[in-house]
Amino acid sequence: MPTPKWCLVTGSSRGIGAAIARKLADDGFAIVLHARSNRQACEELAAELGSRGTPTRILMFDVSDRETAAGILQADMAEHGAYYGIVCNAGITRDTPFPAMEGNQWDAVLRTDLDSFYNVLSPCIMPMIQNRKGGRIITISSISGVVGNRGQVNYSAAKAGIIGATKALALELAKRNITVNCIAPGIIETDMTSNLPLDELRKMVPLRRLGTADDIAAAASFLMSDGAAYITRQVINVNGGMA
Ligand code: NDP
Repeated sequence: MPTPKWCLVTGSSRGIGAAIARKLADDGFAIVLHARSNRQACEELAAELGSRGTPTRILMFDVSDRETAAGILQADMAEHGAYYGIVCNAGITRDTPFPAMEGNQWDAVLRTDLDSFYNVLSPCIMPMIQNRKGGRIITISSISGVVGNRGQVNYSAAKAGIIGATKALALELAKRNITVNCIAPGIIETDMTSNLPLDELRKMVPLRRLGTADDIAAAASFLMSDGAAYITRQVINVNGGMA
């Protein structure tokens, strides 16, 4: 049996990240699960994937904590080698109309959703390059980062920043055969959206349904595959036709 390619999926304890981890496992990748605090959910998912024959391990750290993230990622790679694929998925919202937005709401979203691009990828890129086997980086933006969304000035800023960072990194890594692409989901039913008026929001979707985590996982699966080798620096909108 060939050695499996390892993919790190940040924020894979639940929601979109868990669906991506499951799908990539189905595709034959070995999976590094990750979360901030929900270790039990990661352990349950690791057991599920393991029972289907997927090698897994779990990392726990806050993606907004640069030093801790670097330390844990470097220790993991020192023991197990570079990742072939990385999905930067972990994220949060702190929604409020801009005039009422507190500094801590701005900071929390920018640090978690945008700084995590640097905090997670920076320690991983040189090992990936030195591995000389190419690679895949997938970032998760949002329709809010593409078109902007009221009540989400902080989140729209962070998610638009992810798109710019993704496109720039794609240029830097193209000659290394490492593709860097972004998925911009629309409204996906997860814990993140559970407090939103989903029946109202559904009416705004041309396809007349909310997205599922599996809809996003399908796009991630394709971008991670060998078949996507000639796709880099792109934003794939998965939003039911909203934009
Ligand atoms: P969930 O709230 O369901 O899950 C969030 C995941 O991210 C959890 O695994 C959580 O870990 C982890 N996480 C959150 N903050 C941190 C942190 N500081 N450090 C490490 N891990 C963290 O979110 P979704 O699955 O809905 O969203 C996943 C991604 O998709 C996010 O980037 C989000 O912005 C984006 N997105 C979501 C949309 C939606 O409609 N749901 C639409 C567009 C984009 P733990 O369990 O330990 O808290």
